[in-house]
Amino acid sequence: MDNPRTGEEAAALAALGSRVLAEAGHGDMVWGHLAVRDPEGRGVWMKASGWGLEEIGPGRVLLVSWDGERLAGGEELDGGGRVHLEYPIHTEVMRARPDVHVSLHTHSGTVNAFSSLGEPLRPLSHDAVVFTEHGLPSFEATAGLVRSGELGRALAADLGAARACLMPQHGLLTVGRDIAHAVMYAVLLERACGLQLTARAAGGPRHWTDREGSLEKDATVWPPSQIEAGWRYWVRRTQR
Ligand SMILES: [Zn+2]
Repeated sequence: MDNPRTGEEAAALAALGSRVLAEAGHGDMVWGHLAVRDPEGRGVWMKASGWGLEEIGPGRVLLVSWDGERLAGGEELDGGGRVHLEYPIHTEVMRARPDVHVSLHTHSGTVNAFSSLGEPLRPLSHDAVVFTEHGLPSFEATAGLVRSGELGRALAADLGAARACLMPQHGLLTVGRDIAHAVMYAVLLERACGLQLTARAAGGPRHWTDREGSLEKDATVWPPSQIEAGWRYWVRRTQR
């Protein structure tokens, strides 16, 4: 889908993406966030600290500079709102990856349970095949907060060209060329991790799609039109 052309559109999209993530079960009280690249190159639009994903409208979204300064937004908030400590996750990943227009970080319990196993993600259904081409790296520099540019750059380096990165004992990062891809990768990653945990609990998976088959499925099951269809489904669910 088209990326935003104005700051106003970016704020609205960041708010919608936040609410979709909540609807998809990625909420963790007031933690976790999604960022949209500013179309004017000033930084990223992301929700203010202290609010849950489902509580976010455009007036609770901030324009955060590449160095973490609040530049605009937060019209509904006292003092304009506070920037999340972990903003470097988004600014450093977008600095390193010009192709990324949306990044997100949540504290999914399912993904953390999976990460604790220390085993590769297997394509047991359609979901995990999107992580075949560039793999699913794991960020090992810290299990704590990514609150410095240095840690953000380490995370971006571990992410490399991938669509997602595990953050063991913390959560996950996904990125996309638009909001549909970033959000759907988070949804698919959580479901794939959950399915593997189920199979592991039942004695462990013995069969899965091989790399060649997974690459073929990535192209046929998840073309941009289907990623977009999934995103639109989640948007409708926030409107019920
Ligand atoms: Zn976090």
